[in-house]
Amino acid sequence: MTVAPGQIQLIMDLRSKGVDDMELLSAIERVPREMFVPETFQEHAYEDTALPIGHGQTVSQPSVVVRMIEALELGPRLKVLEVGTGSGYQTAVLSHLCRRVYTVERHAPLLKEAEARLYELRRHNVTGIAGDGALGWPEQAPFPRIIVSAAALEVPPTLADQLAEGGIMVAPIGDERGEQRIIRVRRGADGFETEDLGAVRFVPLMPGTGAEAER
Ligand code: SAH
Repeated sequence: MTVAPGQIQLIMDLRSKGVDDMELLSAIERVPREMFVPETFQEHAYEDTALPIGHGQTVSQPSVVVRMIEALELGPRLKVLEVGTGSGYQTAVLSHLCRRVYTVERHAPLLKEAEARLYELRRHNVTGIAGDGALGWPEQAPFPRIIVSAAALEVPPTLADQLAEGGIMVAPIGDERGEQRIIRVRRGADGFETEDLGAVRFVPLMPGTGAEAER
């Protein structure tokens, strides 16, 4: 596979920021970020920054994707629930590191575009639905791993319910104006244990589906 020069720049940038997980860096290298970025922002596709993708949403910043995925402690046999597909960039990275990604996006048009990109990249271990990700995916629960890409004020209880025993959920928690923190939740036999993994900035987790919100 040929790797775009920008992609190499991004990998070097992430390495200089202390990322040393080779499997994760290799997954980042295999996902051409320019495919997930609108035409107007192409020249910034390999910068370590979030970029607009329409509907008031953004494709996540690569170093944030990396921090969240590192915290998730993935393995090749695990299935992952992702809430907030957005452009599908993080979905594509995840798909290289786990068995299957179940991804939920409230804006149906964003999901459709993401699915087209994932198909083109032959990421066949991804299943997506349009809907409210705060409700999880009951038919596929429990999940050993859950990753949330939009900030809620607290850990959505339904998602906590759908986390398998021994499972890990990583989610940005906090309000849109105040500070948000990456929270890691581990579900043990006796309950939930949470850790604060530092500050972050995400778009908010919204209720309902995009269709309702746009009326
Ligand atoms: N990680 C994504 C970016 C996600 S931006 C990427 O790499 O492109 C956050 C996404 O969460 C947005 O697309 C937004 O529409 C979606 N979102 C917000 N609230 C949601 C909800 N309740 N259910 C599902 N998706 C939601």
